[in-house]
Amino acid sequence: MWKSYRELHREWRWRVGWAQQEGDERWLRKLMKREPQPPFSNWLRHKVPIWFDYRIGSLELSEIKLSPRVIRISTLKRGERITVLLNPAKYHLELLERGKIKSFQIVKRGKKFHVHVKVEYEVQDQPVRAVREVDLGIRRSTATVLLHPNEPLCRDDFSVTRDVEKVQRLNELKRRVAKLQRLKEWEALKRIRYKRRRVAEYYDRLTVKRIAEISNGCVVAIDHPKGIKYENYRGNDKRELRRLMTNWVYGRIIRYMQEECAEQGIRAVAPDERWSSMTCHRCGSRNTERMTQSVVHCYNCGLTYNANFNGAINTGSSILAEPRSRWAEVDPAQTSDESLEERDEAGSPCL
Ligand SMILES: [Zn+2]
Repeated sequence: MWKSYRELHREWRWRVGWAQQEGDERWLRKLMKREPQPPFSNWLRHKVPIWFDYRIGSLELSEIKLSPRVIRISTLKRGERITVLLNPAKYHLELLERGKIKSFQIVKRGKKFHVHVKVEYEVQDQPVRAVREVDLGIRRSTATVLLHPNEPLCRDDFSVTRDVEKVQRLNELKRRVAKLQRLKEWEALKRIRYKRRRVAEYYDRLTVKRIAEISNGCVVAIDHPKGIKYENYRGNDKRELRRLMTNWVYGRIIRYMQEECAEQGIRAVAPDERWSSMTCHRCGSRNTERMTQSVVHCYNCGLTYNANFNGAINTGSSILAEPRSRWAEVDPAQTSDESLEERDEAGSPCL
């Protein structure tokens, strides 16, 4: 916790220095409000759950019907142990059976106790034939590009997952919350307090599963708009963009992606390439401009391309040993399903 705090604080100091240099008073004011706080805020009261290893406690099968597993923790008194009944989901039971239990932790959240268990099992690594580059954007949830070494790109290599259903469900929920707030139904509001997050998490898991399924034999590279939430603070006159952003939690999707890939033996990396979205993938020039949120234009070679795919190709080819495929065909700038829409967006005064 302290390490991460120091890192965040260093970054914050750098940003403040930069804002002072630029004389950007408004941003400086915003920044001063968000100084990273040291760990241990008051509600934690210096308590951090500890990991029990196999000597202090054990996770055992039980004969009680209601809870198939129990945890036994030894106490200071000789021969006396505490038994904690568990109520694991089917998914978790399967995980417990697959591997060896390394350690566990008891966490209190609100009035409920939760048990976190570390399970270790081995997964066969899949041989790598190509790179699947995943770009997390704002307008759609994910765009992926499959890059084969020394092979030109073709239309089938591009794919887009547009989470229409997720957006619909979330909007529906938003409307419901707004209505309940108007009616001052506090009890009902309390009941659906975490619903929005749970729905979003569910759809993110689905997306990630879909991508992992088509990524057999690939290295998965995950790219996302870095610092976009941080830079689009309230009051920067980009309300529309902020509204779109609320549906995506990039950190969570990346974490899910890494988990899912690890389970299936797929290598997943999150390359830190700051310029990937601003560099032209054909000529490598940074003399580019975002015409809209989803179209990028290169002034050096005149290429107009889908911004997400452009970023994806850049990051993907930085992982391949020979980035030759970036010189290949540039035609499928817009995949079939979105070519029309993209043109529409380019024509309208959009974000
Ligand atoms: Zn170019």
